[in-house]
Amino acid sequence: MKTLLSVIGARPQFIKAAPVSRAVRAQGGFRDIIVHTGQHFDRDMSDVFFDELGLPKPDHHLGIHGGGHGAMTGRMIVALEELSLAVKPDAFVIYGDTNSTLAAAIVAAKLYIPIAHIEAGLRSFKPMPEEINRVVADRVSRWLLCPTDLAVRNLAAEGISEGVYNVGDVMYDTTLLIRDRANQHSKIIDELGLTPGAFSLATIHRAENTDSAEALAEVASYLAEVARERPVVLPLHPRTRQAAAKFNIDLSSLRIIDPVGYLDMTALIAGCQSVLTDSGGVQKEAYFHRKPCVTLRDATEWVETVETGWNRLWKGPDYLPRRDNNAYGDGHAAEKIVDILAAQT
Ligand code: UDP
Repeated sequence: MKTLLSVIGARPQFIKAAPVSRAVRAQGGFRDIIVHTGQHFDRDMSDVFFDELGLPKPDHHLGIHGGGHGAMTGRMIVALEELSLAVKPDAFVIYGDTNSTLAAAIVAAKLYIPIAHIEAGLRSFKPMPEEINRVVADRVSRWLLCPTDLAVRNLAAEGISEGVYNVGDVMYDTTLLIRDRANQHSKIIDELGLTPGAFSLATIHRAENTDSAEALAEVASYLAEVARERPVVLPLHPRTRQAAAKFNIDLSSLRIIDPVGYLDMTALIAGCQSVLTDSGGVQKEAYFHRKPCVTLRDATEWVETVETGWNRLWKGPDYLPRRDNNAYGDGHAAEKIVDILAAQT
C-alpha cells in the first residue's frame, strides 16, 4: 500500500483537506498520514474543524507556530524532513499557500518525493507572502491540481503544463458536504439576535490589512460605514485582534465575535445579506452561496467571482452584470484528485 504524507497547519487547509481525506479513505488504496504543523493551534482555529468536518486526528503534530516567516518555515522544514525520512512516503500532499505549504514543498522536493499541490496555479500577481509560497510550491510539484481553468492558464504562462489538471475546487466539495448540516444545526444567527438576510458578515486577517495602523484603520472605517446601514458581524482572527489592540483601532460599531467553527461560518454566509472579506476562501464561499461580496484587497485570485458579478474589489469598479458559471467544478474535486494519485503513484 502506498503512503501519502498530507501536510496541513492553517484553518483553510483543514477545510480543504476534509473532502480529500474522506475520498482517500473511501478509495482505500493509500495509507494517509496526516501531519499538523501547528501553524494554527487553538480550539477556535484548529480542533473545531477536525471535529465538525470529520477530519481524522493528525498522526503527527509538530507544534510549530509564531515567530517570523523565516523562523516558522525553518523549524517546519527541519521537523518535516526528519519525519519524512522516518515515514518514507510515496508522495506529499500539500494545500494552498501557507508557510506549512512552502516548508513541505521544499522538504519533499529535496528528498525527491513527488508532491501533489492542491489549489495549484493561483496568482494575485502581487508581492505577498502567499504568492511566494504558491509560486515555489507550483515549481516543485509533480501534480498541479488546479481549481479552475484560469489556474491552468496561469501555470501555462509560466511554462508549466506537465502534470497539470483542472479538478475543480475542493472548497466547493466541502461546502456541498456541510451545507445541509449547517442549516439544521447552527443556531448562531438566532444566538446573535440577527435577522436572516439583514446583516453583513466580515472577515479580515491578511498582512496587507493588519500590518500597519493606517491599513487597519482604513478597513475599520469602511466596515463602520456599512454598519450604519446594517449589523456587521466580524469573527475576529487572532492576528487582527492583536493588531487592533496594538494600533488602538476602534471596532466598537461592529459585532465582534470569536472565530467560529465551520458549521456556524457556513450558516452566517448562507444567512447574510452580503460578505465583506480579505479572505480567499470566504470570497469563494460567498459565491457558492450566491451572496454579494466586497473584497477588501486590491486584487483577487478568484477572478471568476468578479466576472460573474458576485464579487468586486472595494476600491474597484461596481459589480459586473450577474451571470451563472460553474467555474469551480462539480463538487467532486477530491475524488478526481485521488483517482489521479491512485493511477500515477
Ligand atoms: N472561517 C471559519 N470561521 C471563521 C472565519 C473563517 O470557519 O471565523 C473559514 C472560512 O469559511 C473559510 C476559511 O475559514 O473556509 C478561510 O480561512 P482564512 O480566511 O483564514 O484563509 P484564506 O482563505 O484567506 O486563505
